[in-house]
Amino acid sequence: MISIDNVSKHYGSFQVLTDCSTTVQKGEVIVVCGPSGSGKSTLIKCVNGLEPFQAGSITVDGISVGDPKTNLSKLRSRVGMVFQHFELFPHMSITDNLTIAQVKVLGRSKEEAADKGLKLLERVGLKAHAHKFPGQLSGGQQQRVAIARALAMDPICMLFDEPTSALDPEMINEVLDVMVELAQEGMTMMCVTHEMGFAKKVASRVIFMDKGQIVEDDAKDAFFGNPRSERARQFLAKIL
Ligand code: ADP
Ligand code: MG
Repeated sequence: MISIDNVSKHYGSFQVLTDCSTTVQKGEVIVVCGPSGSGKSTLIKCVNGLEPFQAGSITVDGISVGDPKTNLSKLRSRVGMVFQHFELFPHMSITDNLTIAQVKVLGRSKEEAADKGLKLLERVGLKAHAHKFPGQLSGGQQQRVAIARALAMDPICMLFDEPTSALDPEMINEVLDVMVELAQEGMTMMCVTHEMGFAKKVASRVIFMDKGQIVEDDAKDAFFGNPRSERARQFLAKIL
């Protein structure tokens, strides 16, 4: 589903990604972790073309992200992205947040889009909040709306960038529960997260990044049981 081959990226003279390679099969859940500044966000932004890269290649469902001929907005409409800071449209109701891209990008009718939005809101436990505005919801609720909004586009895979790290502790699980359910339903997911309980529960593999490189890319049991690199070992010792 996702293939990342020898991707390197720099900002001026600063090398942010060096020779990153991995593949994500359909239905796999990949957890990406590593110290702050190691390039995790940059890597997943490269996957849906939010960040350009200078070397290597990335394909998503056979579509080359770096190819100038690729229609990036079309690709992005098929790759769900959930960020740390929800990024809902603050001036729109929850319903409108869930329907606007379905109508504008996918050409669905307003009724069809609203119907789909409502079903997804129900799925994340927020049907009663459809008429509200983002500011009237808690952080955990807003993040569940953001996930529902991404799912409304019928994505072929989902990218998450620290979706729970801006949340109060008591709201983390309500978001992780939605993500676990998605994973168990077979969604292909690449998740930057330090929630190792989530990783242990549903990850197929864990990628550990440090200084712009993929240092480990292992089955979760191997990663947690016996990380190969000293850097991963130190990292795990700090967060577990
Ligand atoms: P992570 O998500 O692992 O914390 P990031 O991918 O956000 O790491 O950033 C990796 C490195 O790239 C950091 O050192 C960051 O300061 C740098 N960086 C990120 N975005 C830019 C940018 N637009 N210009 C210059 N440097 C950047
Ligand atoms: Mg980041």
